[in-house]
Amino acid sequence: MNRNSPLKAARFRLYSAPSKIGGHGIFTEDFIQKGSQIYTLTGDKGSLDYMNSLIDAGKITVDDGLQIDSDTYISLEPFGKSFNHCCEPNAAVVSESDLIAARDILPGEEVTYDYSATVGIEKTWWKMNCNCLAASCRKIASSVGTIPKHRLMYYYENNLLLDYIVVQLNLPKLKKNG
Ligand SMILES: [Zn+2]
Repeated sequence: MNRNSPLKAARFRLYSAPSKIGGHGIFTEDFIQKGSQIYTLTGDKGSLDYMNSLIDAGKITVDDGLQIDSDTYISLEPFGKSFNHCCEPNAAVVSESDLIAARDILPGEEVTYDYSATVGIEKTWWKMNCNCLAASCRKIASSVGTIPKHRLMYYYENNLLLDYIVVQLNLPKLKKNG
């Protein structure tokens, strides 16, 4: 395995397997403590126009671009793309594209994050059907503005939001722990 391999960068043993949420998801073989960095999401980086050109060319789908700033996206590499959305996730994307544990995650659990927390407030046209089996499943996931307020504030207060989302929501920047 070469040094640049995303799997090598992961501190935890992650694997792809069939998911009850849908298709394949990413699971952990190891216990992951709350706050730990699980993975760094990487891929081809560019503007929304650039992502749209990749979509038009049939190279990616509309769900493959991770928004990391107001007009910056990452076309996720295949492994990173495999993390499923959940309306009550156990992980979150923070800073620019770091996936961290939102709570302790047990061996064998699927690692999920809330896609909506990465979708800018202006992208109200983005919608995805959800059947994540969480008690509070929203059924349709859309931009960050559609996350119920109590859940959004939970993400915010626990430093589980991307920097640009905190700016978009007009919330004061919190001190990061550790
Ligand atoms: Zn859901």
